[in-house]
Order: sequence, then C-alpha cells, then structure tokens
Amino acid sequence: MATPAAKGERSGAPLFPAPPTRLAVLLGDPVAHSLSPRIHNAAFRALGIDAEYRAWRVAPDGVADAIATLRAHHALGANVTIPHKRAVLGLVDRLTPAASAIGAVNTLRVESEGTLVGDNTDADGFALPLLDQAESLAGTTMTILGAGGAARAVVYALLTRFGPERVVVAARRLEQARRLIASFSDLDPNGGLEATTLDAAREAVRESALVVNTTPVGMTPRPDGTPWPHAEDFHPGQTVYDLVYAPEETRLLREASARGARTVGGLAMLIGQAAVAFESWTGQAMPLDVVRDALA
Ligand code: NAP
Repeated sequence: MATPAAKGERSGAPLFPAPPTRLAVLLGDPVAHSLSPRIHNAAFRALGIDAEYRAWRVAPDGVADAIATLRAHHALGANVTIPHKRAVLGLVDRLTPAASAIGAVNTLRVESEGTLVGDNTDADGFALPLLDQAESLAGTTMTILGAGGAARAVVYALLTRFGPERVVVAARRLEQARRLIASFSDLDPNGGLEATTLDAAREAVRESALVVNTTPVGMTPRPDGTPWPHAEDFHPGQTVYDLVYAPEETRLLREASARGARTVGGLAMLIGQAAVAFESWTGQAMPLDVVRDALA
C-alpha cells in the first residue's frame, strides 16, 4: 500500500477524507506551491459536490503504489505533475490520443467499468483562451520558445486545433527542438514544423501571429528575466502567450503589450487545464468566476 502521506505535505493526516466524501489528488513532488487544491476545492464547494482535492507529495518509487491506492478507494480522479507526467504513461489501462501524442499524462480518471484512463488536458487548457481567434490564427506562422514538456502540449494543440502554416520551435539546444518536431511528424503532413535555436528565431518571431513562451524564464523569483530580449520584434496583430503564471503579468507580456500585441498569461491555461479535468471527473462545468475569485 502506498504511503504518500508519510512523505506528504500533510504528514500524519489520513490519506482519504471520511466517506462519503470523494477524493481527488495531485501526485507530484514538490506539490506545496500548487494552486490546484484551491482551484478544485473552490469549484467543489460552489457546486455542492461532496469531494475534496488534496496534494500528495509522492517520490518516483511511490507512484505505482499511489495509483493503486487511488484505484482501490475509487478516487474521483487525479492530476499528475512534475516529475511523474511521463512515468504514469505506463501505469494506466488506456491513454487518450492527446496523452499519447504529447507523451505525458496530467490527468487520471476512472471510467465506469473501472478502466484507468491517462489524459493530458494541458493542450485543451492552452487552447481555450485562443479559441476566439481560431479563424485569424489559421494558416499563420507561430513560434514556440522552449522545447520541453509544456511545449509538446502546445505544439499538439496548435497542430490539432488551429491549422497553422508554420510552427517554429526555438530552443537553446537545437537537438531538443529537433527531437520534439520529429515526434509530431504524423500530425504534420505538410511539413510546417521547423526546429531552430533561440538565437536564430528573430525572423520567425517577427512574422508570427502567435508567440508562445514555454520556458520558465521570467518566473518568480526572477521576474526580471525574459525569454525574448528583443522586445522590438513585437507588434500589433500578434498574440504573445506566456505559460508562466507567477507573476501573472510577466516582463515578456508587459513588453509585448507595450508594443501593441495582444497578451495571454499562464493563469488562463492553468485554470483551463483544471476545468477540462474537473468536467471529466464530475460531468459538470467548472465555475470559472468562482475559481478566479479563489485565486485572486
Ligand atoms: P521543461 O520540460 O523543463 O522545459 C523547459 C524548456 O525551457 C526547455 O526547453 C528548457 O531548455 C527551456 N529553458 C529553461 N531555462 C531556459 C533558459 N534560461 N533559457 C532558454 N531556455 C530555457 O519544463 P515544462 O514542464 O515544459 O514547463 C515550462 C514552463 O511552463 C514552466 O514555467 C511551467 O511552470 C510552465 N507551465 C505552465 C502551465 C500552465 O498551466 N500555465 C502548464 C505547464 C507548464 P533546457 O532543456 O535546455 O533547459
């Protein structure tokens, strides 16, 4: 039996709330900083759902046991975060197409017949704040800064939902960007994906209708950083989207906005991915206003 609470943020507390209250959990390490408990518990309360969301700090060698515990206790669902998003791929009965293509699971749900499904709601969460621009983004150039795990969800969302002509993935290590685009070749029949270095991406950024930062540069506690030091490349008609959500308005977004670009901050994606997971667990739409208030 897993004993995540032994290593957990709530050491000594029981793993599960008293029945009939259902449990949803976050599996990760660290988890203390996570906003997910605030998001989901505010939504459960607002909708009168008898469930509680808890964060379990679980070491890599405890993930399989933690999942077995969740299954045995009929948990409502789970989120998975760093460093377990890839490890969980092999611990579920079925993967959704998104989780399979992105190569990472951030949401677990148990279907009625007991099947454990690994999903990835980061792509849908990322896409939500862009849906009102879907028409104007179709057929354009887009640039992604960074080529790690979040970039994979972003590339998947762009290729499957926004019909870009060209998606340039720019990373400080060219090899990483190349590996990323190679893994999405099935979704890129027209060869619109390109890999480049950050240093060589200026022309792409200037041409892009959408620029997305998927690096942690600019995040608290170093909010003075920016992944794109050439602010003069931004202009009206562009959208600049920063996955970083702390601070809510990063230096990148401030500079892009000052040059007339539309901006989207990472909090929208964070709430979006939670909303998609919440709906898959409860069958109900997350009350977004309540959640935003809870995070304010
Ligand atoms: P990751 O897998 O570690 O990838 C980070 C990427 O950024 C890698 O390509 C990395 O390159 C690059 N990078 C790191 N430091 C850099 C620097 N100083 N200059 C240039 N490139 C740098 O991390 P991740 O899981 O993708 O997460 C990335 C960011 O997205 C984090 O800030 C995370 O909080 C945020 N995020 C937000 C949401 C949301 O809902 N808003 C969801 C997921 C992630 P190297 O491999 O060379 O270091």
